[in-house]
Order: sequence, then structure tokens, then C-alpha cells
Amino acid sequence: MEIINNRYQIDGIDVIELCEKYGAPIYVYETAKMQSQYKRMMKAFKGVNVKVNYACKALTNINVLKLFKNLGAGLDAVSIQEVKLGLLAGFNPQDIMYTPNCVSIDEIEDAVKLGVKINIDNISVLEQFGHIHGKSIPVCIRINPHILGGGNTKISTGHIDSKFGISIYQLTHVKRVVETNDMIVEGLHMHTGSDILDIDVFLKGTEIMLNVAKEFKGLDYIDFGSGFKVPYKPDDIFTDIDQLGKELTKKFNTFCKEYGKDLQLIFEPGKFLVSEAGYFLARVNVIKQTTATVFAGLDTGLNHLIRPMFYDAYHHMINVSNPNGKPRIYTVVGYICETDTFGWNRKISELDEGDYLCFLNAGAYCFAMSSNYNSRYRPAEVIIHHGKDFLVRKRENIDDLLRNQIEIEL
Ligand SMILES: *Cc1c(COP(=O)(O)O)cnc(C)c1O
Repeated sequence: MEIINNRYQIDGIDVIELCEKYGAPIYVYETAKMQSQYKRMMKAFKGVNVKVNYACKALTNINVLKLFKNLGAGLDAVSIQEVKLGLLAGFNPQDIMYTPNCVSIDEIEDAVKLGVKINIDNISVLEQFGHIHGKSIPVCIRINPHILGGGNTKISTGHIDSKFGISIYQLTHVKRVVETNDMIVEGLHMHTGSDILDIDVFLKGTEIMLNVAKEFKGLDYIDFGSGFKVPYKPDDIFTDIDQLGKELTKKFNTFCKEYGKDLQLIFEPGKFLVSEAGYFLARVNVIKQTTATVFAGLDTGLNHLIRPMFYDAYHHMINVSNPNGKPRIYTVVGYICETDTFGWNRKISELDEGDYLCFLNAGAYCFAMSSNYNSRYRPAEVIIHHGKDFLVRKRENIDDLLRNQIEIEL
């Protein structure tokens, strides 16, 4: 978003006009940013055989999936439904990695039928899978390297108490299951959480994974997951992807030489690819002065954007209706009958009732986590592509709330 002649624009489109055209609240996504993030990642790892799978749970609008498919990305799907969306978006089944957690063997069998890559994250399922398929369907194994990543315990998946992956301490058991069932392990995977800041954490994880990889002959790829941190605050620190690219490329290429094969290096970023490409626009309903605080109450709430309440996430907010107002302090809250505070004591250009407030970093885990709580409609989604705006999801209406409900005689 840039400011030109005192008006905020997203890729050349006036933000206030967008709000007036589609109504607020709306989610707006900028494809140019998604494309540039994808290219940034490919460039940082140009020295290895790299593949980037878009972790689509971050934002599953079918157009976003298609965009990444057209760029040459693969897809990381955590549910059979995401697999199906990926296939509908046109992904080749072998370009979809299915990485579920605690799902039934039945769901995994459904994914096998759809022809996607299977990533297994517990020994019980590995064993059942081996009994059914033996060497006929290769698998990837999700390893928990027990390194600490993640900006918040809720988004950290690599620690000792995590439900994700198979502990490296169980490697002997894994190998026994693989050998006795004559299984083919084509890949190894780790994903240790979101918002990992320190590239040393990554590199430590890499080293552990490469050591594990020595134990498996016949690998085709190693998937290092994701968790790249993006800037949320102005001047925020974030993962230095170029530095990581340099160091990891060196390590990985050295390993491939020792291993005797040019393995593929896979990443599966969600946030890195789409977070900064998203904007959430909402109107200010009321300015409410209480004894100690000035609240700005919006026509949205945790039903549309739950990250601040769920993860204590910081989302920067800009009053796009008043770019040059005096900065004042507000506590910005939603309209839901819960305490849904978007931010405490935020310095924002003076807000009036009716102004539009823009949340930044609204691409990842925002619309995707929205709900109908308080029987509110989920917002519309708009994509800006090549300088033009397109409505890509309609705002819901009362029929959407009643869909699938069955009225009985009472
Ligand atoms: C959520 C998830 C990702 C993406 O994480 P980001 O922090 O959004 O990049 C990647 N891989 C798996 C297995 C995931 O569950």
C-alpha cells in the first residue's frame, strides 16, 4: 500500500473507492506481492534444486491457489479438503504434499487414491500404511527434530511436547517399521512452527535432518517446512531469507555430494508468501470515551480476524480515511459479545466514526480462520491483479447462515 496525493492505494487502486464499491469489511489481496515473495524465495535458493510448496491453510481462495500453480509452486495441504481444492485449482497430484496430523488411516487412503504425496507423522499410521501398501506407494516421514521454533507456544510445533511429527528419538523404531514392511521412504520432512526469527534455529534443524537423511537410502527430497517470520510492525525484524539461502545452500549441496544424489530441497511457506499481500478494511462504528480509555469500535470482530486474540498477534492499523490527522491513542475493539480487542493503546491518525481502518498483514490466517460467530456474515474477498480489482468471494447473507440447517416440527 502506498500513499499518493494523500490517498492510499494498493497497486494503483484507491483504497477508499474499494471500500465504497464493495462495502466494508473486506479482505483485499495483492497478487503482485505474492508473486514477488515467491520469486524472492526462489532467488534466495537458486543454488539448489529447490521447490516451494504453498501452505494453503494460510489462505485458500481458489484464485490464490491458481496463482501459485501458475508460478510453478507445489502445494502443501493439511487436510483432504485442501487436497481436493488443490486438485480443483489444477495442481498435478504429485505436486501436492499431504501433511495431515492425527487423521484417520481412512482419510490417508483417500489421499492415496487421489495420487498425492503422503507425509506420515506417527508410527501407528506408518505401520498401518506399510501393511496396506508395502513398497507400492512411497512415503515421506515427518520428523520432529525437537528444536524450538515459533513466536508463540501455540504456533511452535517442534518442542518436546508437540503432537506433530515422529520424534528423532524413535528413529530406530521407524527404520524397523520401514524395513519389515519393505517400504520406500522418498522424503523426509520437518516443520517446527511459525514465526521463527533466528536462522540459526533453521540451520540447526537442517543439520539434524541431514543426519537423519543419512539413515535412509533412496530419498528424492528433504522438506524443511516453513515458519519464516515476516515483518508485522514497522521496523520489525524478520527472517533473513537471503542469508538463510546462502548458508543452507552450502550445507545442502555438501550433503548431496556425500549422499551421492542431487536431492530436491522443499519449503512450504504460507505466511511468507501471502501475509503482506493482504489488507483487511473495516469501518469505525463508534468512538467511545470511557473513564480511562478511548475505544474505537469497528464493524468487525474476532469472527473476521482472530489472530490478535488467539495469538496475541500484532496487526498494524492505518486510518486510510485520514492520512494526515493528529496521532491519537485508541484501543481498537470489535463488535462481538466477547472481549475482542484488536490492539491496546495504539497510536493512530485521528479517527472519526465512519472512517476506514486498514489492517496490514491480513493475507495469512485471517480470512482462513474466520467464522460466523454471533451470526455475522463472513466478509467479501477482493483480488487486485495487474492493477485491476476483482471480487473473488461474495459477502455472505442470511441464506448462508441457514444453509445445511434443517427445520423440524417443534
Ligand atoms: C502451517 C504449516 C506451514 C506454513 O507455515 P507458515 O508459518 O505459514 O509459513 C507449513 N507446513 C506445515 C506442515 C504447516 O502445518
